[in-house]
Amino acid sequence: NPVIAIVGRPNVGKSTIFNRVVGERISIVEDIAGVTRDRIYADGEWLGSNFHVIDTGGIDITDEPFMSNIRMQAEIAMEEADVIIFLTSVREGVTQTDEHIAKLLYRTNKPVLLAVNKVDNPELRADVFDFYALGFGEPFPISGSHGLGLGDLLDAAVKAFPEQPEEEEEDDTIQFSFIGRPNVGKSSLVNAMLGEERVIVSNVAGTTRDAIDTTFEDEEGQKFRMIDTAGIRKRGRVFESTEKYSVLRAMRAIERSDIVCVVLNAEEGIQEQDKKIAGYAHEAGKGIVILVNKWDTLEKDNSTYKEFEEDIRRDFQYLSYAPIIFVSAKTKQRLNKIPGVLKAINEVRSNRISSSVLNDVLMDAVAMNPTPTDKGRRLKIYYMTQVAVKPPTFVTFVNDVDLMHFSYERFLENRIRAAFGFEGTPIHMITRKRK
Ligand code: GDP
Repeated sequence: NPVIAIVGRPNVGKSTIFNRVVGERISIVEDIAGVTRDRIYADGEWLGSNFHVIDTGGIDITDEPFMSNIRMQAEIAMEEADVIIFLTSVREGVTQTDEHIAKLLYRTNKPVLLAVNKVDNPELRADVFDFYALGFGEPFPISGSHGLGLGDLLDAAVKAFPEQPEEEEEDDTIQFSFIGRPNVGKSSLVNAMLGEERVIVSNVAGTTRDAIDTTFEDEEGQKFRMIDTAGIRKRGRVFESTEKYSVLRAMRAIERSDIVCVVLNAEEGIQEQDKKIAGYAHEAGKGIVILVNKWDTLEKDNSTYKEFEEDIRRDFQYLSYAPIIFVSAKTKQRLNKIPGVLKAINEVRSNRISSSVLNDVLMDAVAMNPTPTDKGRRLKIYYMTQVAVKPPTFVTFVNDVDLMHFSYERFLENRIRAAFGFEGTPIHMITRKRK
């Protein structure tokens, strides 16, 4: 999907506009490890067009001086976006910082829409003309707090989207990526895999600008596509080392993958940011493998594996289904295991369980652990059916949705896993009232 980035100096109202544009689309189903908090990347929709929105204002490294932060945000917008919304405010008029941002944005050949925020009443409209001076044509007057003018702005944004090249459908190709914090070794892993998998079929330009994906085949002819989000191989820009940017990168990679390899750094152990990034992948319903990279750097004894694994299971409880592989991009230890694991996950994600088999499991589960009650009423489960694959999605039909407790749903999920496996993939559980 196309990407809109919102750029502007502090206090022009970027976050307000961001929230308006994505609106109620940020539905907090479960907020694992706080991933939905301080979100800078979200889905939006306008008149049937879907897109992503980035609030570059959320990417802020506090120890950087103000101006280099602004520069960094503009660069991220120019790098990542298909359409840039340059946000200003009628209250302060055209400021020096606005002019500075305008100069940075002149360098892009992406469409830039100039929006003037805080035009809360008609008297302020006359002042909007001053903004022509910034050189981006007719400014769009808007009011984030009143929700005015956003329709025209979004109309123009949608019109400016580039033609989307259709991502060619290769049903049997496994698309995967490496995601993680800066310096965990993602690019090293990409490169090491390239060295390892000699049967490289081709480098294909991805749909994201500058992205170079690599496809390769294993001995059995299974095709893999290693997703390289733009930039992973040409590096060295200031903003690349910021954590927020690494989250943004991860989200773009997750979106295009069937399976993601969440990369941890054995040397540094598990960090807060690792949990966030993994949380996004889980929420997106993608297959997940946990790679503990730089395994070569640890002094190991008999219990090192076990201890690390226990730490992972404790800190990533929601990823109990994800296999863990201890690897080294440097020594290539166990990298050859990755394709096989990806293949197995791809297979279980496509499994369909017949309703009759599923309902046998359901009946056993209910016999083992009676359904919950609330105020004297008991949850009644009529039947369960699998409605989708990738991720496997199950609908349970009941008498009253409110009686289905989170923990009971989790119990049913565990029974399904006990019966059918599904290693490496999240399962979606949906409860519906039987009509
Ligand atoms: P990225 O930011 O996640 O893409 O991380 P890089 O691939 O750039 O790696 C960051 C640093 O860690 C580099 O100096 C690598 O040489 C180093 N590195 C990556 N993988 C390994 C590994 O398995 N073992 C060791 N010892 N160093 C590694």
